[in-house]
Amino acid sequence: MPCVKIDKERCKGCELCTFACHQHVLGMSKELNTKGYFPALVERGPRCIGCRMCAVMCPDVAIEIGIHGVQYNLYEY
Ligand code: SF4
Ligand code: SF4
Repeated sequence: MPCVKIDKERCKGCELCTFACHQHVLGMSKELNTKGYFPALVERGPRCIGCRMCAVMCPDVAIEIGIHGVQYNLYEY
């Protein structure tokens, strides 16, 4: 299953990754990071299909995707 990691201290809270993710995996934290931004967080990790769109979209290179073993695709239209 893919594993999404967000470096909350690199994140500046632009929300681009949340719009890029069609699986609705990502959301925004209600707690500030040390720079004073509300960072992105993983809200629904098991829904991730490892497409890496969020990581490509992030201007601050704050997202890493790890993929191990079988992927389960879950699309919702
Ligand atoms: S890798 Fe794809 S499915 Fe997973 S969180 Fe990023 S955009 Fe969403
Ligand atoms: S795209 Fe990057 S900088 Fe913007 S909210 Fe997502 S993780 Fe943070």
